[in-house]
Amino acid sequence: MIITRPKELKEILKKIGDEKKIFIVGCGECAATCETGGEKDVLRVKEILEKEGKTVTGWVVPEAPCVASQIKIALAKNKKAIKEADSVLALMCGLGVQSMTENDRDKKSIHVGCDTLFMGEVDKDGVLLERCSACGDCTLEETGGICAVTRCPKGLLDGPCGGTDKGKCEVDKDRDCVWTLIYNTLKERNKLYLMKDTHLPKDYSKMSKPRQLVPPSIAAKTQGPGKAQGAAK
Ligand code: SF4
Ligand code: SF4
Repeated sequence: MIITRPKELKEILKKIGDEKKIFIVGCGECAATCETGGEKDVLRVKEILEKEGKTVTGWVVPEAPCVASQIKIALAKNKKAIKEADSVLALMCGLGVQSMTENDRDKKSIHVGCDTLFMGEVDKDGVLLERCSACGDCTLEETGGICAVTRCPKGLLDGPCGGTDKGKCEVDKDRDCVWTLIYNTLKERNKLYLMKDTHLPKDYSKMSKPRQLVPPSIAAKTQGPGKAQGAAK
């Protein structure tokens, strides 16, 4: 899931400036979970904008604004209200905003209402936690299914560092040392021998941007059966 945080209202209002009519687009998936772009959040922002003297010409919360086809449908259904607006306020992640830009036929000015923070998961208490940095070379199997690249503040591939203290991290004493967690997890699974392996530095060329992946079914259609494995580049 893509984790977002709302931008400060004063920052959004500054960007909107003198524009009077705004259309709001939220996101029914990740941003709804983060409480930044779901229906309730869109309605809350709508009320605020109206109190500030703006007219909200309409709003929509597509299920997946980062899926181009979904955003196209949502924009097409609200064509009139969008045309009427001076600009669009996007309450979603950076992927969604880019999808909006690519699919907005009216070439409206798009204001970004959220900051995109990280890829994360939701724990049992509803807290959003960063768990993967999309390094392109997953080594979770060697680290007991716990990502050291992301969860160790130093990104150590072989830990723990000398600063770990009673299972806590020296960078943030309120957090568990991820390498202690890895050790305990491997021990429970009789895989402590994996701690003895030294991990080679990551091949960060796999993270060179922008990355692109052709899923196998698309590759088979566009590049012939020989290329049907799907390839990231
Ligand atoms: S090693 Fe960590 S950052 Fe890399 S892909 Fe696996 S979970 Fe993500
Ligand atoms: S104490 Fe553990 S989690 Fe913290 S920086 Fe050192 S190895 Fe990483």
